[in-house]
Amino acid sequence: MFKSFSNTALFSFILIIIIIVIFIPLFSSPPILSEEYYSQYNINHTLITYSFYGFYWPLPSNHRISSYFGSRTSPTSGASSYHQGIDIPATENTYFLSIMDCKVIYTGFNGSGGYSIICTNGSYKLSYCHVSPNFIVSVGDSLIAGQVIGQVGPKYIDDVVGNPYHDSTGKSTNGATTGCHLHVTFKLNDKAVNPLDYIDA
Ligand SMILES: [Zn+2]
Repeated sequence: MFKSFSNTALFSFILIIIIIVIFIPLFSSPPILSEEYYSQYNINHTLITYSFYGFYWPLPSNHRISSYFGSRTSPTSGASSYHQGIDIPATENTYFLSIMDCKVIYTGFNGSGGYSIICTNGSYKLSYCHVSPNFIVSVGDSLIAGQVIGQVGPKYIDDVVGNPYHDSTGKSTNGATTGCHLHVTFKLNDKAVNPLDYIDA
């Protein structure tokens, strides 16, 4: 009886140690790049934050969300009435950060998302939409979480042939957009999930 109790206690102890060894690194703090690195992009490194999962908030100086994930009234022609991500308003050319370690799989004009960067880590697929066409990352690049990867794009563009997106005055827009903002989509196994379940505004 006593022996069997101590075996169970020993087994539990070993199990707890194994769980700690496996899971603690998953939730440890990611490294933050240097103040000098961020200052070249006009980013105040003291404002950089990341979530419990170690996923960075992409715009350290912009935390307001203008459109949440889920059902909504479509704000402009061609914009979805089921919003697949979140919208974070920011001034044109504001630099933004990679949310997680991942590999770039697409840069270009991607329909309603306008100029976009898409990357994946194998499980998650992230899209950053309505960005600047002056890309600073390329397909195949491996990004680290917190790395500067692009700039918020202009509202209007005029260099996409056959672009069906425009505002009420007929001017061509950077995808289905009503103003400068970063749209972020999180897909888990190809299904859109609420980014705010993973990143903290
Ligand atoms: Zn959006």
